[in-house]
Amino acid sequence: MNGDIRELYQQMIMDHNKNPKNFHPMPDASRVAEGYNPLCGDHFKVYVKMNGDVIRDISFDGAGCAISKSSASMMTAALKGKTRAEAKALFEEVHKMLSREIGSAFDEEKVGKLATLGGVCEFPSRVKCASLAWHTMLEGIEPTGKQVTTE
Ligand code: ZN
Repeated sequence: MNGDIRELYQQMIMDHNKNPKNFHPMPDASRVAEGYNPLCGDHFKVYVKMNGDVIRDISFDGAGCAISKSSASMMTAALKGKTRAEAKALFEEVHKMLSREIGSAFDEEKVGKLATLGGVCEFPSRVKCASLAWHTMLEGIEPTGKQVTTE
């Protein structure tokens, strides 16, 4: 990763950690999913309000490190108004981006603004922090009844 991207990545994490978007419980949510990352201690709830197949509203609360929190914040901003299928497709792309080998490319066009989050792959121990909210969201829009954990 070159210096500019690294700086952008760190700035993005700091901004979202300080001013997270959609960071509140949602009393009238259609679904609440809870996710844990025991490695780091991140623990979040993701709330979704579905309108048929569309995510009408999405929010999260809980506690975790700056990376997990900023990833959740960016995720909620990216998914509001998306269909279940679009959300799942974005999950797949983000998952590919986060779990790729260091230095390898990913489809920046498909992930849009979330590309900055791809910087986390330089820090392999933090990848689970970044992916936690996404796994939790998936359980929210397509419940399996399983506990969401990164382990
Ligand atoms: Zn973490």
